[in-house]
Amino acid sequence: DERKPKREPGPPLDSYEPEGWMLETLKQENKQLLHLAIVGHVDAGKSTLMGRLLHILGQVSKKEMHKYEKEAKQIGKGSFSYAWVLDESAEERSRGITMTVAVAQFETPKYQIVVLDSPGHRDFIPNMISGASQADAAVVVVDASTGAFEAGMEGEGQGVGQTKEHTQLVRSFGVEQIVVAVNKMDAVGYSEDRLSAIKATLRPFLRQCGFKDSAIRWIPLSAMENENLVTQPTNEQLKSWYNGPSLLEAIDTFEPPLRNVAKPFRLPIAETLKSRTLGQAAVSGKIEGGAIKIGSKVLVMPSGLPAIVKGIEQNGKPSSLARVGDNADIGLQAVDPACLFQGGVLCHPDYPLPPASLLEVKVLVLETSGPLLRGSQVIVHCHHAKEPARITKLVSLLDQKGEAIPNRKPRVLLANQRAIIEIQPERGICAEQYARYKALGRIILRDSGKTLAVGIVTRVLDYEQ
Ligand code: GDP
Repeated sequence: DERKPKREPGPPLDSYEPEGWMLETLKQENKQLLHLAIVGHVDAGKSTLMGRLLHILGQVSKKEMHKYEKEAKQIGKGSFSYAWVLDESAEERSRGITMTVAVAQFETPKYQIVVLDSPGHRDFIPNMISGASQADAAVVVVDASTGAFEAGMEGEGQGVGQTKEHTQLVRSFGVEQIVVAVNKMDAVGYSEDRLSAIKATLRPFLRQCGFKDSAIRWIPLSAMENENLVTQPTNEQLKSWYNGPSLLEAIDTFEPPLRNVAKPFRLPIAETLKSRTLGQAAVSGKIEGGAIKIGSKVLVMPSGLPAIVKGIEQNGKPSSLARVGDNADIGLQAVDPACLFQGGVLCHPDYPLPPASLLEVKVLVLETSGPLLRGSQVIVHCHHAKEPARITKLVSLLDQKGEAIPNRKPRVLLANQRAIIEIQPERGICAEQYARYKALGRIILRDSGKTLAVGIVTRVLDYEQ
């Protein structure tokens, strides 16, 4: 079954040769970036944990911390003060939940870590997707306290089972390495038995998702009591049986992500912006391939219009260039701002990315999802793009290892099944084969606020233009 696309999207990627300055910039690098998704059930302590970590590592000043604490007290939610470090707007604070994917950073000996915080509330899965689709690795936060861990593992019902759902999500997006942060160990007397019981429940599930045992690090900790976050434990009970790494040390042992510097430039647009320094036509996002500098020519997809890079900012500071792995704000000139929108992609001028009109995808149907049929209507999310789409073909069912089960032409897809299917977006989306650019080849299918399936693009079968 060697279906080829009707035509190639551009010259083959291996014909691309990076310019000298691009290779030079890599040598000047200080610390490699690692994008880390924080996932887990609502109230597991994700925000508390990250707030603490950022505070300890000096990324949040005393003054800011004091401000957050004061604001928290005013609304009567003192215990949330650390969580608030990551929340952005006052509106979110008064609701007491993290709504947006806040971006924060801290350092380990080896990495500059970009934290993609993901809210645990079910309504906010789309934000979670946006975060997870950029992740190199993930911290899965579970609540060790009695009953809470079990709720996070349950498959059905509103607001439960998110430990499973989020973990499947990050894995289906190609994330292979995780830390399981077993939080709130203070609430269970730092019991070794409790950690063992949680491991025994979670491990088979993680294996089933396709995580190798060697790629999982289990870290017992307490965000509240600051046990085992950055330094070795001080609690006598925990010390008596645990002598493994702290959370920070465990994060530092992640394998570095591969850098696509030798691939043509690609930047999926996360947001459009206007600013005094970058002008009326500016975008922000994470660079997924290649590098640009001021004066570089780019193509804005899907319109295909050319533009010139006028200004670059990283972390609010001007920069002369930006390269793969960087989060950057980019000001463009010689372009109509109307052709810039979330979900579009800036490309190297010789390697455009025409919008795909028919995709072959490999998906995992989530546990909470209803049956999927040929003709089912879904919303396909790919990097920051989102578009109504129709399932046009159920190609084959796959086994646990992802291999096609022979002679099983599926007529319906059920929860927990893996399959190859074809989908047709209403309007073309700038998606890529996962093997070419991971972040542009991760997809998610949703309907009526529910996540149905997650997976990767195996082939682009047709293009719109
Ligand atoms: P999120 O929804 O996962 O971001 O969870 P939050 O960070 O908002 O925490 C939820 C609740 O758990 C808050 O009331 C926290 O104070 C509490 N919490 C967080 N970490 C710990 C911990 O280590 N021990 C205990 N006992 N409570 C914690």
